Amino acid sequence: TTTTTAVHPALLDRHRAVLPDWLALYYRRPIELTHGAGRHVWDAEGNRYLDFFGGILTTMTAHALPEVADAVAEQATRMLHSSTLYLNRPMVELAERIAALSGIPDARVFFTTSGTEANDTALLLATAFRRSNQVLAMRNGYHGRSFSAVGVTGNSGWAPTSLSPLRTLYVHGGVRTRGPFAELDDAGFVAACVADLRDLLAQTRGGVAALIAEPVQGVGGFTSGPDGLLAAFREVLDEHGVLWISDEVQTGWGRTGDHFWGWQAHGASGPPDMLTFAKGIGNGMSIGGVVARAEVMNCLDANSISTFGGSPVTMSAGLANLGYLLEHDLPGNARRVGGLLIERLRAATAGLSVVREVRGRGLMIGVELVAPGTDEPSPEAAALALEAAREGGVLIGRGGPPGSGVLRIAPPLSLTVAEAEQGVEVLTRALATVDSRLRGGPGGRD
Ligand code: PMP
Repeated sequence: TTTTTAVHPALLDRHRAVLPDWLALYYRRPIELTHGAGRHVWDAEGNRYLDFFGGILTTMTAHALPEVADAVAEQATRMLHSSTLYLNRPMVELAERIAALSGIPDARVFFTTSGTEANDTALLLATAFRRSNQVLAMRNGYHGRSFSAVGVTGNSGWAPTSLSPLRTLYVHGGVRTRGPFAELDDAGFVAACVADLRDLLAQTRGGVAALIAEPVQGVGGFTSGPDGLLAAFREVLDEHGVLWISDEVQTGWGRTGDHFWGWQAHGASGPPDMLTFAKGIGNGMSIGGVVARAEVMNCLDANSISTFGGSPVTMSAGLANLGYLLEHDLPGNARRVGGLLIERLRAATAGLSVVREVRGRGLMIGVELVAPGTDEPSPEAAALALEAAREGGVLIGRGGPPGSGVLRIAPPLSLTVAEAEQGVEVLTRALATVDSRLRGGPGGRD
């Protein structure tokens, strides 16, 4: 990778000298962000960007939200940290709110500091509860970077090792529009995935602890099976006593607009046994956690198992942020503004052969790019689009299976209609430039 044109080579050189080589940076000229407000962020050169990636979904409501900043400052001046060995009012209050929102009966909440650690805990619980280290996960899924979370990550681009403490069996269902069942209609797709799951369980000796699945795959490229798929899976899982863990790290808190949790798109059969959350709830403060039925949560014979999980400062941020989200009905905003964004982007890019599909729901929108005139995934197109959008003042993300070209759009949930329209305009221009460049047109290949 060359960054000879970097405007701040000193910081980049220092980054390279002391941080891991695999710590990827976006952009040919990496961006140093210094501050934000609302849906905008500023870099060290003073450029302003519309943030269409929500600080990678951690900025759930808005950047520098005063309500959250004040709650953090107020708690920080009194006590930064105590311990789970003492009663902690903000932790109890946030747990009460999340338990009530989770839909899980007799719910218990355990706080961690990241989504990885939340999934790690969920897997620890499931394997202990079921006395089995065999688990089911979805192809192309992502669940984090701890040893067990990597062990259920089905996307090789995000799983840096194949070693695992778990025996994982991967099932179909997360990717609707490519793969062996792509030609089937929704009902046929669900039936094929259920048959695949049934067959896998019939061929597996011994018990299986859990299925872990993202209702909409996040780093996998904002892709999902048809609504109801996981409810259909649930029936099969129940026959075998297998627990269902819904990884809501990206889909939670109304991100998908239609539902507060992603699992609700599959809710015909009731809530999952466990759900895991992280990212947006702290609006940038590191909160993760697991919600589980009491019977499952309490199966461990353990003392306190996290030092920083449930810290009063992060819990205060979470309470203020969740309060703001609900008072301002940001899930409803995600549905309305996200729906408009998808519709406008679809219409504006319909004539561009580089765009294969604009998909998603709420403010979780994926744009799949292909080499113009083909159905071949184009990582090159995605790389060019990312740069062109940055030039236009919009930050977006990438994702998808290895070798694919998927753009990810996930702004803070307070996005306004005017900002959505401005973003669509910039992205359409960026994609038109990429389309013409890849077809060898004006401003073509250099
Ligand atoms: N699960 C999902 C679905 C995620 O998207 C992520 C983060 N990208 C994680 C788990 C891991 O969360 P964290 O980075 O906070 O450990």
